[in-house]
Amino acid sequence: MKRIEIFDSMLRDGAQGEGVAFSVIDKLNIVKALDAFGVDYIEAGNPGSNPKDIEFFQLVHDLKLKHAKLCAFGSTCRKGKVPQEDSNVLSLIDAHTDVVAIFGKTWDLHVLKVLNTTLEENLRLVRDTVAYFKQAGKEVIFDAEHFFDGYKANADYAMQVLQAADEAGADVLCLCDTNGGATPEHIHDMVAKVCKAFSKQRVGIHCHNDIGCAVASSMSAVEAGAVQVQGTFIGIGERCGNADLSTLVPNLQLKMGLKCAGELTMLRDTASKLSEICNKRLDRNKPYVGESAFAHKGGMHIDGVAKVSRSFEHVPPESVGNARRFLMSEVSGRTTVLAKIAAIAPELSKDSPEVAQIVQTTKEMEHNGYQYESADASFELMALKILGRYHQHFKLGMYRTSGEFPHPDENQSASAMLSVTVGDQQETTATIGNGPVHALDTALRKALKVFYPQLNKVRLVDYKVRVLTGKAATASRVRVLIESSDGELDWTTTGVSTDIIAASWEALSDSIEYYLHQKEGSSSCQ
Ligand SMILES: [Zn+2]
Repeated sequence: MKRIEIFDSMLRDGAQGEGVAFSVIDKLNIVKALDAFGVDYIEAGNPGSNPKDIEFFQLVHDLKLKHAKLCAFGSTCRKGKVPQEDSNVLSLIDAHTDVVAIFGKTWDLHVLKVLNTTLEENLRLVRDTVAYFKQAGKEVIFDAEHFFDGYKANADYAMQVLQAADEAGADVLCLCDTNGGATPEHIHDMVAKVCKAFSKQRVGIHCHNDIGCAVASSMSAVEAGAVQVQGTFIGIGERCGNADLSTLVPNLQLKMGLKCAGELTMLRDTASKLSEICNKRLDRNKPYVGESAFAHKGGMHIDGVAKVSRSFEHVPPESVGNARRFLMSEVSGRTTVLAKIAAIAPELSKDSPEVAQIVQTTKEMEHNGYQYESADASFELMALKILGRYHQHFKLGMYRTSGEFPHPDENQSASAMLSVTVGDQQETTATIGNGPVHALDTALRKALKVFYPQLNKVRLVDYKVRVLTGKAATASRVRVLIESSDGELDWTTTGVSTDIIAASWEALSDSIEYYLHQKEGSSSCQ
């Protein structure tokens, strides 16, 4: 069976994405995570482009990679020049990577109108540059820029460019859909033609997601004979991004039955680690790795999954390092709540009075505007209270918040004062913040850190407010959802009130209580 090579371009194409900026440390951490997952090639950027990249290339060689090969990226030498006199080419040699990826023009329009040279001179640039790197002992991946548009405009010329790279000794001919507009069918066609014309070559595919088909097109290319797929791990990249390897790799392995790099049980962890480094939240509904990828809502679905998991799941969630989740809502009925309760108190039987009470309370709370679908932590606290296993870690005496306009400065628009009691000790604090909830959160943690220093690690990562449409004779209420993290564990809590600060307080205090329960275990609680 043929083996498909996985080539990640997060550090090069991914870094072109809007809002993406990597420090040198970020880049090193990305290399470590990609290597641990097992990709074959890591495209590490252009070594000559700026001081940050130069520093990175010096440091990256100290990492002991277990599998991945590092690849430096650059273009063919400049028109009218020879490679050995071109500073960009020389900086690629200085990067000391085993592999280089060299891009060259294949679309006559670009050669004539953008590069402003002749078709013959462009063929020479490709030939000379590839030959130069081969003489220097490098593995050379030739990136045929705009190949699919170029082939449509002038098929003969596009094939001549590939031939120039091939004759000069390129190890891979990678066909790039640089503008991202080719369809999977079109790509299948062209790749098949190239594989036939260069039957001894390794052919690669590099797709952009401008029409939402980057993963599908890459799969088509593999079907047509490509043996290397290029993409970025969570799909980041210029414009609409690149082929998303977190979707493509499992598709190649699980759906096409192909052998390729990548330890799938690490898929979700790798995706969340990388999105953390990119400072992006992983989309909930991202295939395979999103939080909702294996989340079930609705009584019948949940009942089905509980009986035979594959009845509503295309692959087992654990095969990609994800986990099954049961979402709750009024429609999903008892089964949902039972699955959640079983996780908290496995010893309880379905018919026990405690279970009935939790189910009943959940329904009442949902009727009042609470929603526990994603607020697992608040649900758990509510269940623990009913089961008599809840121990309060702190008691609120009072809080007061106030806002001010105009703001003295943007970080000081509000203040909060608060007093809490832990055991028989009282702590009173006052803080300022960039809003009343921020001030309240800061005041609460400042007061509690005296007793629970572990709260230093906890931070609020997301805060959402929904206005609930009021029923007749009911004032309109808001529901607050707060997501917290200590860097390892993430949890979500909720609160509902007609007063936004009161709803926020409920979610905030639940967040802290939940964490203290998790970290201390109920035995050492006060
Ligand atoms: Zn690209």
